Order: sequence, then C-alpha cells, then structure tokens
Amino acid sequence: MLSEFDLIKQYFQRQRPGRAVLGIGDDCALLAPSPGMQLAISCDMLVEGRHFFAGADPRMLGHKSLAVNLSDLAAMGATPRAFTLALSLPSADRDWLEGFSSGLFALADAHDCELVGGDTTKGPLNICITIFGEVAPGHALRRDAAKAGDDIWISGTLGDARLALAGYRSELALDADSLSAAALRMHAPSPRVALGMALSEHATVHAAIDISDGLVGDLGHILSASKVGATLDADALPAGAVLARQPLDLRRRFCAAGGDDYELCFTAPASAREAVMAAATRAATPVTRVGTIDAEPGLRLADASGAPLALSLAGFDHFSGD
Ligand code: ADP
Ligand code: MG
Repeated sequence: MLSEFDLIKQYFQRQRPGRAVLGIGDDCALLAPSPGMQLAISCDMLVEGRHFFAGADPRMLGHKSLAVNLSDLAAMGATPRAFTLALSLPSADRDWLEGFSSGLFALADAHDCELVGGDTTKGPLNICITIFGEVAPGHALRRDAAKAGDDIWISGTLGDARLALAGYRSELALDADSLSAAALRMHAPSPRVALGMALSEHATVHAAIDISDGLVGDLGHILSASKVGATLDADALPAGAVLARQPLDLRRRFCAAGGDDYELCFTAPASAREAVMAAATRAATPVTRVGTIDAEPGLRLADASGAPLALSLAGFDHFSGD
C-alpha cells in the first residue's frame, strides 16, 4: 500500500531541478516572479461525474486537468510559470497514477510550467489545479475591454467536443471514426497559450475569454462586462473537422453553443487585423473573424447574407451542459 508521501514522491515529485526557488516538499513553494511582471492566477476543479465520466482515461484526464487551467492563462495573455495540484483519490491505484501523472507532465513540460506543490487526500475523485502565470502590466486581456466596432475573432474550430458528447449520449448517430476524432477534442483540448501570449505582446486586442461553456455564453460574459452587444455571423463560425460534415442547423448550434472547446474568443479594432493575423501566424494557430461588437446591448445571430437568424438563444439552454 502506497503511503500519501510515497505517492507524492513517486508520481508528482520530479528528480530534476526546476525554476522555482523551492518546489514540492516544504510547507510552501517559493517562486521568484520576474521583476515588474504581474501574477495571473487561476483555479479550476474537475469532478468525476460532473466534468468527466467515471472511468475516464487517466492520461487524458491528466492532460485535460492542466489544459483547462492553461486555457485560462491563455485567455489573459499570460505566460505559464507554475501550478499546484490538489487531488482527492478513492484509492492509490498505480496504473491510474502512472497514466494521470504522465498526461499531466507531458502538457506541463510542453508549456514549461512546473508543478510546485499540492495536497493529496482520500475521497471521491476530484482534481483541482491552481495555475500561476505572468503578464506585463497593462497587457492582460480582460473581459471588460470590448469596444463598439471591434471585430470578434475565434481561434481554431468549435463544436467537435459537443458533437462527441451528443454521440456518447446517443442524441445522434456518429460512426466510430467520427466519434473518436470528435472525442479527442473533448478529452484532450489544446490550450491556446501561444496565441494568447502573441496577442497580448504584439496586437491591440481589447477583450478576450476562453470558450469553455459555449461561444454564446462565454461571449455573453465579455458583452456584460464591457456593457456592449454583438452580432455574430453564424455561418462564419469555424466548425470542427467532424462537425463540418454534419447538417447546417447542427453546425450552427454546436458552434454557437457547444462547450468544452477551449478556444479563445477575442475582440480587436479593425485597425488591428493585420497584427492579429501576424500574431496568429507566429503562434501557428488559425483565427477567424466571426462578428462585430455593437453599442446596442444583446447578442444577435445572422446568416452569411446578414439576415437575422431565427435561432432563439433560449433554445441553446438545452445544450449548455447539464
Ligand atoms: P502540509 O501538511 O504541510 O500541507 P502535505 O503533507 O500536504 O504538506 O504535502 C507535503 C508536500 O507535498 C507539500 O510540499 C505539498 O505541496 C506537496 N504535495 C502534496 N500533494 C501533492 C500533489 N498531489 N502534487 C504535488 N505536490 C503535492
Ligand atoms: Mg497539505
């Protein structure tokens, strides 16, 4: 039987020097922030049965637990530095710990983000990560800074994670290849860290958010914080590769109100279009212009010709994840 301390030592404490002044092992970790930079801090909890299925693949779960936190740093334009891991586990299952920690560290290493501490306890499976990043003063991409006339941009593609959920729930029939391709977007999202950093350093971006609960809902947070409205071109929304093969109505709905996308939605003045495209190229991340911020409150959806779409936003509640 693994003791709590053996478990930490074996699976989470690494035998190599990190950047932290003091990492795992003492009462606190010690970090030395870069002079003049602000700390960006975010915390996300993943609960079995709520955020992931019981029996989920531990390696993907390790990846996703950190990915959702990195996505929050990306949405602020911050550079990842370190994170802590609070873990409640029903048992010290070696296979699970091996898979979980390898998925977690593969993504952590890809972003040079160091595990510096945490807490471990017995209980229902529950994973809580707090992440620390750095951003230059005045460069954080906040939700409350959208301005009327801004373009609305989306990174990558939307809707495949929601499509996979629909497949799992048998809301629609998906062949096995389509389901496994879409499911990768659900289980192993790619946080848009490089894009967030490039936008905050090199482009005049006004507001940004990461899309975790669906574009309509998350853009809605920008609109209310910024006291503006928006018009989205439903047919400009970039559908995921699997969703792109589905009927138009489903494409529109899952792009607009999917969930678990972990793409960035951001607003920038039209004068910044070239700078945004250059930042996207630098980050090797595609971006698409999907609408405009308006002075008039509310969120409107239009089709490619600009005609208002009859999709009622209330109708999206069904898709918002309960
Ligand atoms: P304390 O009792 O002082 O809170 P703990 O006994 O909980 O310390 O943890 C011992 C050390 O191991 C601490 O440095 C803590 O940050 C670290 N730690 C505990 N659990 C984890 C974990 N799941 N991942 C990384 N570090 C952990
Ligand atoms: Mg403790």
